[in-house]
Amino acid sequence: MRGLAGKTAVVTGAGSGIGRASALRFAEEGANVVVADVAEETGRETVDLIEDAGGDATFVAVDVSDRASVQRMVDVAVDSYGSLDFAHNNAGILTGFAGTTDITEEQWDRLVDVNLKGVWTCMKAELPVMEEQGGGAIVNTTSEAGLVGMGGLSSYSASKHGVVGLTKSVALEYAGKDVRVNAIAPGPTKTNIQSSFLGAGGSSVLGRARRAVRLIRMVVRTMRAGFDTSAMRDVPMGRIADPEEMAGAVAFLCSSDASYITGHTIPIDGGQAAD
Ligand code: NAD
Repeated sequence: MRGLAGKTAVVTGAGSGIGRASALRFAEEGANVVVADVAEETGRETVDLIEDAGGDATFVAVDVSDRASVQRMVDVAVDSYGSLDFAHNNAGILTGFAGTTDITEEQWDRLVDVNLKGVWTCMKAELPVMEEQGGGAIVNTTSEAGLVGMGGLSSYSASKHGVVGLTKSVALEYAGKDVRVNAIAPGPTKTNIQSSFLGAGGSSVLGRARRAVRLIRMVVRTMRAGFDTSAMRDVPMGRIADPEEMAGAVAFLCSSDASYITGHTIPIDGGQAAD
């Protein structure tokens, strides 16, 4: 990828899944990486993986719903590496299926605080630095649930639709300032969010079979409860994604090969959005 080497990237939720793959990919492309996560142990593991591969990374403990800790994350990037060129605002949470009237106010607030407000708190701290240094690129993680409704996941879907609108609006505000803002909308991806949702089981044939059975049971339960599951239909490509397939798109969107792309949300979903 052109234009990533020697630059500095911040990745939130970098202790696991898509964020970890993105942090590793930035490092592979020669960028310095600020690995930000609320989970310290796994965040430090990501740093170790990058350093073992010869890259440069720094861990910062952050809760993206807390503005002070987000500001600290950006300060660490600038203090450690002298700039903040790229940000992958990716941290997110997913709770299980629940009808809209069954969601508690506390659950709603936490989910929206992390998934939507968390993306805003990050951009609020990142944008002034990028503007002052004359440019940058931001990629936010939304979801296929940010593009279509999902019965039983209304708070998650609302938070992720919010990320799409936020991405478009901020892209317009900063289009003349050489700061590009895009989003990725992953389809089902092999990460902890998926296994916490469907249950763990490992990558053996038996583990995969157990997960498939759980998925079918979950869909049946959800349909019985009267929710629309059309958005959960089979992936046309016939498999769920690896986190590295999200990381490739993040690296591309930050690279100079994407220099005229801003305000877009790219579905990375094995064809689901086309179906
Ligand atoms: P994951 O659970 O493997 O990783 C999420 C990471 O975010 C974890 O390391 C966690 O500690 C961190 N995190 C959670 N809350 C945080 C907070 N308040 N502040 C900082 N860090 C926090 O899950 P993932 O699948 O890699 O999720 C990454 C993003 O991708 C999320 O925004 C998720 O909604 C989105 N997404 C995932 C899928 C999927 O199928 N895996 C599909 C669509 C969208």
